[in-house]
Amino acid sequence: MELIDTHCHLTFEELAGDVAAVIERSRAAGVTGWITVGTDPQQNRKAIELAERFENMYATVGIHPHDARTVTADTLKELRELAQNEKVVAIGETGLDFHYNLSKQSDQRRVFASQLKIAKDLNLPVIVHCREAFEETMSILEQHGRGVKRVVFHCFSGSAEQAKIVLGYGFYISFTGVVTFKNAEAVREAAQIVPLDRLMVETDCPYMSPEPMRKQKINEPALMIHTARCLAELKRMDLADFAEAVTATSRAFFSLPEK
Ligand SMILES: [Zn+2]
Ligand SMILES: [Zn+2]
Repeated sequence: MELIDTHCHLTFEELAGDVAAVIERSRAAGVTGWITVGTDPQQNRKAIELAERFENMYATVGIHPHDARTVTADTLKELRELAQNEKVVAIGETGLDFHYNLSKQSDQRRVFASQLKIAKDLNLPVIVHCREAFEETMSILEQHGRGVKRVVFHCFSGSAEQAKIVLGYGFYISFTGVVTFKNAEAVREAAQIVPLDRLMVETDCPYMSPEPMRKQKINEPALMIHTARCLAELKRMDLADFAEAVTATSRAFFSLPEK
């Protein structure tokens, strides 16, 4: 069986100290590919360096909405350069987070739009982070996202109705351990309507440990097996068939080489 963790932060300090062991446990659990996602200039550089060290590991580069306030023309220039590294498979994560509002909303919008432009220019897909900003995110994608190769809403925690809108635009949807949480019935309803050729699985580790491992404070790719199992059950499929389908979707989304 082969599964790809399509959104992890292996460069964050909770995991970065012993990535080799994290990867070994992941492989043992059947999670054999990883997309380590950049969030700021330093993490972007680290993500590329890490991906260069491991087979089946790829990187993305982007500026998280939390860090939008720090972005200058130079930041975007470097982002554009890093994005041309051969291990980089997407721009992101980028988007809007109106839950924490760690950066001004006007900065978040500006930096999101700039990254959509870079993705378009370089023909790369985009990983979108959207929290309590659904309509605003869709509106920026409408204005600035035309011509972007592919878009995924990561760590989807919206309703089936919102999922339908996202799918209507041709976008993809990715689920974390949130889908396993007891109080997440709405997210499970959303997962049920997402076809397998638009669905991906991720940990967003070190955050979001899935049930029944939610007590494990530091999430890691090995635990994604629980999320995959939950989604396979929702789809009434064998885990192996589900894994094959979503891995094909992930490879196509990020244009990963065939194994
Ligand atoms: Zn995110
Ligand atoms: Zn993330």
